[in-house]
Amino acid sequence: MTSVSTHLNDKDLWRIDKDEVAYYEHMVLNTPLEKLIGTASHKRDVHWGDVVTYSRKIFVPLTNMCRDTCSYCTFVKHPDNPDSKIMSPQEVLLSAHEGEKKGCKELLFSLGERPEKRYAKPKRALEALGYEAMTDYLIEMCKLVIEKTPLLPHVNAGTLSEYEIMKLKNVCASMGMMLETTSKRLTKKGGPHYGCPDKVPIQRIRTLISAGYYKVPFTTGILIGIGETLEERIEALLLIEKINNRYGHIQEVIIQNFQTKPNIPMSNHPEPKLKEMLQTIALARIILNPTISIQAPPNLEKKHLEYVKAGINDWGGISPVTKDFINPQHPWPNINVLESMMSKIGFRLMERLTVYPKFNTEDFLSTIIRSHMLKHSAYLHPDNKLKELITA
Ligand code: SF4
Repeated sequence: MTSVSTHLNDKDLWRIDKDEVAYYEHMVLNTPLEKLIGTASHKRDVHWGDVVTYSRKIFVPLTNMCRDTCSYCTFVKHPDNPDSKIMSPQEVLLSAHEGEKKGCKELLFSLGERPEKRYAKPKRALEALGYEAMTDYLIEMCKLVIEKTPLLPHVNAGTLSEYEIMKLKNVCASMGMMLETTSKRLTKKGGPHYGCPDKVPIQRIRTLISAGYYKVPFTTGILIGIGETLEERIEALLLIEKINNRYGHIQEVIIQNFQTKPNIPMSNHPEPKLKEMLQTIALARIILNPTISIQAPPNLEKKHLEYVKAGINDWGGISPVTKDFINPQHPWPNINVLESMMSKIGFRLMERLTVYPKFNTEDFLSTIIRSHMLKHSAYLHPDNKLKELITA
């Protein structure tokens, strides 16, 4: 579908001030880490207090096929692999009911990007289900979830057109797409994003902007340790801040560390050190608007409690049912254990919904989603505690 939208041509929104990048680079390189994380932590305390949140979710990998081939990915399966698949509506519903039994509130649809545009197998599989495009099937699966369960769909479908965003907004509570990086260098031959049409930074930036234009509560983030420089990390954070300043739709920013795994092209690539993660979390907290939740996954670093000291206020989705399909070798922490660890360092672990309270408005949520939330209010707010997050 052709777009005539002018917001996507607003080059000012993409332009990053090199002096500002240099300012933050100088700050990071010339401030002792303890001082940097102290500043970040103070900013978090002022806005979020002693509460660190998580979302109780069920993870539904709608398809593990993808037209991209990122060098660090273990989620994706080539269509020739017998394990490659598209989940049937029955499987989706089975997972959703499983999540409901365990008290999950969020159903996270995660999927590879547009596999049907590149391969015959997913194209035929979708046709057999009655769809031309993966996003059409995704929309129907979101509808199924809200018709049959009290869960709130959150969609991680990668880059999306404006039209797709508009249609999805009707049937999902929130969406997400990691910006990952603004580095075009990493799309060159030998880079982790070589041959990945959806990892060309401009495509991801356009999705971030369109999600803002159409007022979608949105999660994004950056990936640390895939070959990007400190300067490029700062650029990505400044860009997210700039886009959020314009549209105010960013709920959360994830700071995610690259994890090496066997059988990936980057299996010999070093993982980022804890110090780099703490430095980047602190930078994100310092650069971004304090209302944006800063999140780091608790299952990808043994010393994850250090992340709290560096300024995070959220652990993201934790599933009591499914493994982390993106990092299957790293199990989620037990929620009760995490809660008691947090309390030992003076923080309260609190469950939140995939939509933060501030985004529960007519602008940000469709009528369908708002009535769904109203209808299932007793399930979604069992003890009224979630409403406590009004500062969010
Ligand atoms: S776009 Fe996502 S699913 Fe596809 S290869 Fe890259 S990381 Fe994997």
